[in-house]
Amino acid sequence: MTLPSADSSRPQQLVVLGTGGTIAGNAASATDATGYRAAERGIEELIAALPALEGLRIETEQVAQIDSKNMSIAIWQRLARVLAMHLARPEVGGIVVTHGSDTLEETAYLLQRVLAPSKPVVLTAAMRPATSLQADGPQNLLDAIIVAATAGTSGVLAVVAGRIWSGLELRKVHVLQLDAFDAGDAGPIGAVEDGRIRLWRPMPAGAPLGLARIERESSGWPRVEIIASHAGSDGAIVDAVLAKPQPTPLAGLVVAGTGNATLHAELEAALWRAQAAGVRVWRCSRTGAGPVIVHDERIPAVSLTPWQARVALQLELLEGET
Ligand code: ASP
Repeated sequence: MTLPSADSSRPQQLVVLGTGGTIAGNAASATDATGYRAAERGIEELIAALPALEGLRIETEQVAQIDSKNMSIAIWQRLARVLAMHLARPEVGGIVVTHGSDTLEETAYLLQRVLAPSKPVVLTAAMRPATSLQADGPQNLLDAIIVAATAGTSGVLAVVAGRIWSGLELRKVHVLQLDAFDAGDAGPIGAVEDGRIRLWRPMPAGAPLGLARIERESSGWPRVEIIASHAGSDGAIVDAVLAKPQPTPLAGLVVAGTGNATLHAELEAALWRAQAAGVRVWRCSRTGAGPVIVHDERIPAVSLTPWQARVALQLELLEGET
């Protein structure tokens, strides 16, 4: 295969890592789009199903084989280590990771913050199992490989349904549609169209926190929970968690607030009690888009989704523990 926009100066070796997901899933019938078993096909089988890749230098590695709803700290650590190892190889030009769509945004956010690679690390997923009449996995995998091999790409990206997303911005916003992702107000950073990429915005950037930040034994990671503010909220759940510091005491709380990250007064009072007990509390908006405009600094607010904010708070709490 020739890549239309391939960069001849970029090292040619590509690595494709498998972690499972629907892209590797099988259903009993080709018409079944939801009743399937994720994470059954190995990464070699997924690559072998794409004859278009013939001629490219691709090596594969199965890092995990899970439904990404079950993503764990231990698998994140393994994936980050394997990525760091391959990124350090001078002959490797880019890396693709197949992943379930459910927690793709959390993994992408974590990897960009920790590794911030100058080479592309392109995550991809599928919304239909490999057995489906309308399997989207093969095209998504091909597109991700094209992005990983093409000039001008870097950082942690995700490629799904022909769109290129920043690993710091994407979020899953639909249960079933093939184009299930968006990036809040930001939009995609580019598109893959018939083997060519168009880029509209810069690649994700920032200084890497470094692998050491996440090397702590997974059982010792700070416990950070997500709760929401809603009609009828009170502080009962916060007080209950504070009263029961087992198995791990609560270190952080992310609160998905209404609108501009606002909090029900009763919940807010309980959150102040949590802060007084030493819990780091962050608030963000449950709306899914738009910046949070801060008027009250007593509980810090971030313009991240609750799921990104939870990862960000964990990374911050891990600081100094390495
Ligand atoms: N539950 C699946 C997963 O996240 C969904 C998917 O891959 O689309 O692994």
